[in-house]
Amino acid sequence: MLDITVMTEPHKLLQAVFPDLDFRDIERLSMAAVPCVYPEGVDVCREGETGDTLFIVGSGQADIIVHAADNQEIVVDSIEGQTYFGEMALLGATTTRSATIRTRSVCHLLEISHEAFLPIADDNPDLLRRLLSQIIGHLRRNDRAVIQALNTKHAQLHHAYAELAEQEQLRTQFIATLSHELRTPLTAVQGYLGLMKQGALHGDSLQVAMNSITGNVQTLVSLTNQMMLLYEMFPESPEYTRFNLPDVIIEALQAVRNEMKDTETAVLLSFEQAIPMIYADKHLLFLAFRALLENAFKFNPHKKPIAVNAFCARNREVAVSIQDEGIGIPAWAHGRIFEPFYRIEQEGGMHLFPGIGVGLTIAKMLTARHNGRIEVASKPGAGSTFTVYLPVR
Ligand code: ADP
Repeated sequence: MLDITVMTEPHKLLQAVFPDLDFRDIERLSMAAVPCVYPEGVDVCREGETGDTLFIVGSGQADIIVHAADNQEIVVDSIEGQTYFGEMALLGATTTRSATIRTRSVCHLLEISHEAFLPIADDNPDLLRRLLSQIIGHLRRNDRAVIQALNTKHAQLHHAYAELAEQEQLRTQFIATLSHELRTPLTAVQGYLGLMKQGALHGDSLQVAMNSITGNVQTLVSLTNQMMLLYEMFPESPEYTRFNLPDVIIEALQAVRNEMKDTETAVLLSFEQAIPMIYADKHLLFLAFRALLENAFKFNPHKKPIAVNAFCARNREVAVSIQDEGIGIPAWAHGRIFEPFYRIEQEGGMHLFPGIGVGLTIAKMLTARHNGRIEVASKPGAGSTFTVYLPVR
């Protein structure tokens, strides 16, 4: 781009922005042009105000701003040297500005007012014709650019709406799932309490009722804890200690067996001898492994054996893989299952497996908190392997 000083070389600037005008036209126009300097952050003209001046930018940058319905300012574009704006002012005595132009840096402009331009145009109809044809071309190019920008914005909006709709669907699905998960244990508790109130339960049946109430209340507490964990992230500060990784895995396995009352499913444990002690928060890792093991039991309707391996991986990492031969996960969902509340079971579909879709989110967050990661390999019908990688510190 040419480096033109508005103050000393207005001719050059006029020639650069109106290349179709000849030397004599430029001479005439320059007689009507007044050089001006605008500091940074001022409005050269304002949307909605009337104006009678054409502005030609020699140097500096300015934003084109329009106001939305709520008066919020939207920067639609920016302009810099060797262009012009406010051209409608030359066509009519006074026009309403369609945008605000605000300087982003010091701007050197040439200003041509309608009043100063009129006598030149009256004496030189050819100049007027050539100038108009250039200005109309400029307006057309601007229109095309605006339409293109609008099309891009439209595509972005479309994308944003699609994302919102998907989130809304996820939210609705989550509320439906959560209500279901809360209602099931609450209904059982309510039923047993009703019978106890009527004095209908005695001896063994009273014991069965008490056990069921305790189990269901535990489920409710565990659900609430999951939600709390997810929303408050990590309320208590982590307590790092050095410990044996297999110990935590066995503790988590025990907890899941108790919770799910599953003593049938075989679990094949294989811990490499060389696994070093790990420095981490034991409870947080316990929660992560519990979530993964819970899924291995849950999404395994035929109670096929589960394999848990702990081994030394590359890059000074230890790895724990939890492998089931359950229902598996389609490839398209591998990235999504870690999102909060995401479940593959669809709303309205059969609710085959309990859960609110936060187990993997929690496991991923807790692993990431230890600078680790989780990888998934799975095929529908063949089962799933979730592998947790943790750095050895
Ligand atoms: P939840 O188990 O409460 O539904 P998660 O966040 O633990 O939530 O898992 C999200 C989804 O990922 C599950 O609903 C399920 O569709 C899928 N998933 C997770 N683990 C397994 C697994 N081992 N086998 C098959 N599907 C799984």
